[in-house]
Amino acid sequence: MGKPEHSAPLVVALDGPAASGKGTLARLISQTYTFAHLDTGTLYRGVAWLILKDRGDPADHDKAAEAARGYATEKIEGADIRTREVGAAASVVAANCDVRAALLDFQRRFAVIPPKGVRGAVLDGRDIGTVVCPDATVKFFVTASAKVRAHRRWLELVSARPELTEAAVYKDLLERDERDAARDDAPMTRADDAELLDTTHLSIDAAFAAARRVIDGVFRHCGY
Ligand code: C5P
Repeated sequence: MGKPEHSAPLVVALDGPAASGKGTLARLISQTYTFAHLDTGTLYRGVAWLILKDRGDPADHDKAAEAARGYATEKIEGADIRTREVGAAASVVAANCDVRAALLDFQRRFAVIPPKGVRGAVLDGRDIGTVVCPDATVKFFVTASAKVRAHRRWLELVSARPELTEAAVYKDLLERDERDAARDDAPMTRADDAELLDTTHLSIDAAFAAARRVIDGVFRHCGY
């Protein structure tokens, strides 16, 4: 993990599979340390949503690349990007190297010059510690068993879709994990210097306490 100059922005990178708890941890970290937060999955979901809205095919390489180049947050304002369909399409567009290239600069700029003039940034995704911010101050790879992740995701989705079964969510997650880990460009993987945080048997409070211990140790070391 990088040891920044005293004034360099601090970057916390969280990677891991869907419903591992990384998003909740990223929010808690951003609130506690007053850091800017970027959920990078929203970028891939946003591109996927733009394509699905026009009845396009997320696997159409050129269409997806074009949507990513023209991507702007305002274009997806108010859109429901948290659905199963958008999640699945997001992992298809995320395997497209031109989509990833189009979204890379925005993510890096966010980390280097966090909005609102704050002292640091926390980014969560699949390739933050490996590709987007390889010199991040602190890196985590957050994971949990597929069964536990499926249960968590099912609880989030079921009130809006009572017919949804946990088995269907489990299948979605396995397919998405497989696509995210097997792609050639920036596959989901733990960076060599990332702390492994397995949240299978941890409450969110316990997971956050564990993350805090690591972050505070590293920050103390670099004089924060
Ligand atoms: O994190 P979330 O589930 O919202 O991400 C949706 C999809 O976006 C992931 O399954 C993955 O394919 C893609 N993604 C990615 N790289 C990131 C963040 C998300 O490939 N940094």
